[in-house]
Amino acid sequence: MHLGLDFDNTIVNYDSVFYQVAKEKNLIPFDLPVSKLAVRDYLREVDQEHLWTLMQSEVYGSRMMDATPFPGVIESLSLIKKAGVRLTIVSHKTRYPYLGERYDLHSAAREWIHAVLGENGAGLIDDQDIYFEETKEAKLKRIQSVTCNWYVDDLPEILTAPLFPDNVQRILFDPHAHHPDLPNCVVLKSWHELNSHVKHTS
Ligand SMILES: [Mg+2]
Repeated sequence: MHLGLDFDNTIVNYDSVFYQVAKEKNLIPFDLPVSKLAVRDYLREVDQEHLWTLMQSEVYGSRMMDATPFPGVIESLSLIKKAGVRLTIVSHKTRYPYLGERYDLHSAAREWIHAVLGENGAGLIDDQDIYFEETKEAKLKRIQSVTCNWYVDDLPEILTAPLFPDNVQRILFDPHAHHPDLPNCVVLKSWHELNSHVKHTS
């Protein structure tokens, strides 16, 4: 069996690093919630969206190692892998930021995966099972070509896209219950819930 995984905002939680970087630059009030969306919404509100774009290139590049995994993701994926399920990351990520320093974002993400998802020296996810695609369409085609049984993503627009393969079980990672229920889609509120779901459907 084979589990496909999105990367940004599914495995990696950027809430604290966006808050931290914004605070270091004195861009936000101190009482703003520690949340990526709160930082983005605040900068939009005060008409500073270009600073948000610049911050993204920094966070996904030189500050990537300050990002944290979502609670339970390592434990959950370790158990699933031990049960014999192959793990593959299929992510949509441009190689270089739109603005700011020309940092290789794919390399930064791979370094994070090696460092953070390492398991007693052996990676949870094999290097050849990590795909960073430059467009959403390429990501959807890759989800199809790797032939996974389940795919987890935080974006409903990926799971409901016409190109999303019919024979892959859609799993929406929605820890803050932002989205309404989607047809043919299992909702995951936390990574701890994934194990029992995978067990029951394999
Ligand atoms: Mg994502």
